[in-house]
This record gives sequence, C-alpha cells and structure tokens, in this order.
Amino acid sequence: MINMNLKSNKALVVFSGGQDSTTCLFHALEHYDEVELVTFNYGQRHALEIKVAKSIAKEQGLKHHVLDMSLLSQLAPNALTDHHMQIEDDEIPNTFVPARNLLFMSFAAALAYQIEAKHIITGVCETDFSGYPDCRDIFIKSLNVTINLSMDQDFVIHTPLMWLDKKQTWALADSLGQLDYIRNNTLTCYEGIMTDGCGECPSCKLRNAGLKAYLTERGAR
Ligand SMILES: [Zn+2]
Repeated sequence: MINMNLKSNKALVVFSGGQDSTTCLFHALEHYDEVELVTFNYGQRHALEIKVAKSIAKEQGLKHHVLDMSLLSQLAPNALTDHHMQIEDDEIPNTFVPARNLLFMSFAAALAYQIEAKHIITGVCETDFSGYPDCRDIFIKSLNVTINLSMDQDFVIHTPLMWLDKKQTWALADSLGQLDYIRNNTLTCYEGIMTDGCGECPSCKLRNAGLKAYLTERGAR
C-alpha cells in the first residue's frame, strides 16, 4: 500500500460548465487553497459543453482534467448521446444513462487520489429530483464509504447543492458574488444555447424559474 496523505486543503470539482457545477467551483474557491476541475467527455449532445467548461476553467486559472468517457455511448444510446431522440418528461428521464454518476464519481475519486485531493465536490441535487437514483444523498454517502475502502483513504465527498432548490442555488451564487458570471457564462440548456437558454427545455424551465424567483425575492428586500 502506498503511504500517502491526502491534502486537506485541496479539492477536485466535478465540473460540466453548467450552473450547478460552476456554483460548486466558486464554493470550492472559497473553502480550499487548491482547486482542480474534472470534466467527463461522453459524447454530450453539444460539444459546446466541453468548450464552455474549458473556457471557464481557463478564465478562473484552474487546472482542468478532461477524461474521455465515450464508452458510455456504447452502454446507453439515448437522448443525451443520440442526437435524433427527443427529450421527454418521463419519471425517469430518457437522458438516463444507467450508473453514469457511479462511474463518474469513481473516476473522479481515482483522479483525486492521483492529485492527492482529499475533497471531491459534486453539484448533484435531490431537491429538483432529476430521477437519477445515483444522484441521491443516500447513494453519495454509500459511495463515499466504498471509495474510501477501495483505496484505503479518507476522501470526503461534498454535495453543497444537495438540499437546495434552483432559487437557493442562485442565492448561493449571489452570496459568492458570482450570480452574473454564472448567469452569463454557463450552459445548462439541452439545446446548447448559452446564458438564459432556449427557455423551453426542462433544464431551461427549471433554471429560469429559479432565477426569476430569486431575483423577485431579492428585489423585494
Ligand atoms: Zn433550453
């Protein structure tokens, strides 16, 4: 066994270039001396997602690891990876790739080991429940134990957005002084439209309703 001490002031953020993970990035910068980012490339609907992630990482001067996860498209051809399919509002969205977050978090932990980062931060959230079982709090807690046992280390997986709704996530961005940056520089829209997006897809509806609710509340104060 390699005798190794993880750095308790170092965090790895699982980063997609969207609103949630960019909020996690700024949250991490507040709390840790060293922050690095990891993005998974798995044939996203829009190569633009990777471009947006890279440009935010560069602007923030952060080391950015992009891992090739294109094997996922072999496991689950669906709306995220097959550009011809429509996104539908089912209970389990057809954007579902079985075990995707399990795989991503395991690779993130393997990378965290290499860069000696004790903290792993992910923007998964149970409140706007997406229908992904491997984004639930109980799953993340269970995986944290498994990852630590697998490498005989003491990683801490943080989920700062787990119990926040979209309005509260915008409030967090604002409290970090980054509301405008996140609004203008992130990509959440399924149609690949920056900033406030297409306004019509499920992701845009959630993001924009949360923003409107937050700005209304802030304006009223
Ligand atoms: Zn959209």
